[in-house]
Amino acid sequence: MQKPSVVRILNVDVDRVDFEQTLMFIEQWIEQSRSSDMHVRQICTVNPEFIMAARRDPAFAQALLGADLRAPDGMGILWAAALLGKPLYERVTGSDGLYRICQRAAERGWRVYLLGAAPGVAQRAAANLQATFPGLKVAGCDDGNPTPAEWPQIQQRLLAAQADILFVAYGHPRQDLWINQHRAELPVKVAIGVGGAFDFAAGHKKRAPHWMRRLGIEWLYRLWLEPWRWRRMLVLPHFALLVLWQWAKAKINPNRTYASSE
Ligand code: UDP
Repeated sequence: MQKPSVVRILNVDVDRVDFEQTLMFIEQWIEQSRSSDMHVRQICTVNPEFIMAARRDPAFAQALLGADLRAPDGMGILWAAALLGKPLYERVTGSDGLYRICQRAAERGWRVYLLGAAPGVAQRAAANLQATFPGLKVAGCDDGNPTPAEWPQIQQRLLAAQADILFVAYGHPRQDLWINQHRAELPVKVAIGVGGAFDFAAGHKKRAPHWMRRLGIEWLYRLWLEPWRWRRMLVLPHFALLVLWQWAKAKINPNRTYASSE
């Protein structure tokens, strides 16, 4: 499969993929790793908060740069890409991704491992996923902890589990930095950061109704349920202004590729 085209939003390249293409990449990587010793593939689901965090944190920016796929998550990303003349197809979120990937995994016999969230949440999420997709092979579940002290135990359990796909739910940027840091030693084929996806799959937290997701206001629902998020969301107007600035500069001088810091 060819590498997808990208849209550069404030110095972060986002791959212009939809869910089906994302699943095809995963399938291709798992197939390739059977015939040759490929490196662990990393997927990040990029939303505007990721992009703003990457501006402050060079290690996170580096982790995003090194990922094999930066899927577009969040309406803000779709809005920015359309404004910059490179529209995207759909949101490829970690929460939907967990279901879509597990569905494909059940069909193909891939083994999945759920790492992260509060104690017991990954187990409940896995049980619900297995009820939804009979035949899904769950290689393991672990609340885990992204601290370096925990790594040896996590690695031992992963080595015993022999999983193909690892879902990591430590929230951003922790999960993506953790995958990036341990990539060379992770005994899996594909690793993906999925944020709060286990909380939803476990029924621990409620996801926004479909009509709100369709309207692109899922963030408003999360803010309603978890008002403490308002501080995190303060970066969103700043994100919008910076994207408008990037767009205006490109209009003034269409032949130059502007970096957001210029
Ligand atoms: N979490 C965890 N370990 C940590 C910090 C967070 O397992 O050290 C989990 C937390 O329980 C939750 C998820 O990470 O399930 C973060 O979800 P959120 O929706 O906030 O993700 P984000 O929007 O930051 O990607």
